[in-house]
Amino acid sequence: MSKHRITVAFGDGIGPEIMGATINILEAAQANLAYDTIEIGEKIYQSGNLAGIEEKSWDLLRKNKVFLKAPITTPQGGGFKSLNVTVRKSLGLYANVRPCRSYAPFVKTKHPKMDLVIIRENEEDLYAGIEHRQTDEVYQCLKLITRPGCEKIVRYAFEFAKRNNRKKVTCFSKDNIMKMTDGLFHKIFDEIAKEYPGIENEHWIVDIGAAKLADTPEAFDVIVMPNLYGDILSDVAAQIAGSVGLAGSANIGESCSMFEAIHGSAPRRAGQNLANPSGLLLGAVQMLVHLGDGETAGKIHNAWLKTMEDGLHTYDIFQEGVSKKKLGTKEFAQAVIERLGEMPKSFANVHYPKEKPLDLKYKRNPSHKRAQKDLIGVDIFVQEDNRNPTILAENLLYAIRNLPLDLQMVTNRGVKVWPKGLSETFCTDHWRCRFVTKNGGISNPGVIWMLLKALSENGVEVIKSENLYLFDGEKGYSLGQGQ
Ligand code: NAD
Repeated sequence: MSKHRITVAFGDGIGPEIMGATINILEAAQANLAYDTIEIGEKIYQSGNLAGIEEKSWDLLRKNKVFLKAPITTPQGGGFKSLNVTVRKSLGLYANVRPCRSYAPFVKTKHPKMDLVIIRENEEDLYAGIEHRQTDEVYQCLKLITRPGCEKIVRYAFEFAKRNNRKKVTCFSKDNIMKMTDGLFHKIFDEIAKEYPGIENEHWIVDIGAAKLADTPEAFDVIVMPNLYGDILSDVAAQIAGSVGLAGSANIGESCSMFEAIHGSAPRRAGQNLANPSGLLLGAVQMLVHLGDGETAGKIHNAWLKTMEDGLHTYDIFQEGVSKKKLGTKEFAQAVIERLGEMPKSFANVHYPKEKPLDLKYKRNPSHKRAQKDLIGVDIFVQEDNRNPTILAENLLYAIRNLPLDLQMVTNRGVKVWPKGLSETFCTDHWRCRFVTKNGGISNPGVIWMLLKALSENGVEVIKSENLYLFDGEKGYSLGQGQ
């Protein structure tokens, strides 16, 4: 059988050591793999390439489709882009799958029964990286949540649960505050959950859900969430399971995939043969399952569990009285290799089905009709330094005196300050001024251009505008707080 050619990157910091250890184990287990190596990370960044990856590497990534990646160091500042985010988004790796389980009593944890999988949306949310400084005082980051993005990740979570015999899918979101963006995520979760009557479903507001996760992780099975919450909470989950050094991660797309450890390059531990290679190794196990080689995946996973049980531990999980021996990276890999073919005695044996990866190609609903969009006004954001909403409103009303528009309200950081604001509300130099068509009528975009011209002629410093639409008669904008 011809070998499956994958792309590997040895990364920075502890990356080369843990990748070396992982490949040694894969080779000893006779995984049917051939490797093409690419250079990514620090060296490439320092050569002046702000993306941290050379153009020619993309061809290989797209040809091989499967990427096993060690962590890299992202330099601070200077316009450097996160390579992880770039690879995930450019290759459409929409699902980040992070299993977090405890290995008690061999690895210390307060949560011996924990065994959950976090499925993090990987392409959108605040990670679009669209940020702007708008005034002296105010910076903005755009949170984008899309219907296709939500549908893809929520369906993946339920299909993952079905395939892996998991009983429950939980959704975390913050739609009590972000009613439109997180509200969409929650709504689509409810819609898709109905298609899986055999799988229990529930929703938690992310703050109390996170508290419950940190306190009682055994209450969860599969948890699906938007990008930022998933980024943070999967690290929390891995750490409370025992160590961030133990968790692997799969990034799954429709045609390509990437497998890695969840932790970073831990530069302080680099070059000392100290680091735990388990996170990357378990990422490689996920990769073998994805490639349909459940047999080799199981062989490695069982040998690794046996090594854990035998108390052969790297420094990060070593504990006196429980661990038998503290091993370096290379020696730990050797201990796993010596146990290939053995089964754990305390942990349940792992068996992976010989199945093809989940093949979930996103299809837009062909009967979906574009909504009727009616423009009924505009939010104009302005900089105004004197911090007096009444004077600002008077200026605005004067500027629009000849236009078919009303000034409905002025808000500061989402809080209504005109009309009838409170003197206690703290105001910055950044104001949202809502103009609506007179008598609630429909407008045409020309009115907005006239408005912008009138504001500018009257000395109002406009930063940006957001159109206010009704979609099939339903408001497509938030009211903000205090309205
Ligand atoms: P980190 O995860 O690299 O390390 C934090 C601490 O966790 C380390 O000091 C170490 O004590 C411990 N640790 C992590 N992995 C370990 C392992 N395998 N074995 C033993 N101990 C381990 O986080 P950081 O220090 O905040 O980030 C370092 C660099 O990694 C930064 O440049 C960051 O941008 C980058 N990073 C990369 C990735 C990635 O490539 N996927 C992910 C996160 C962070």
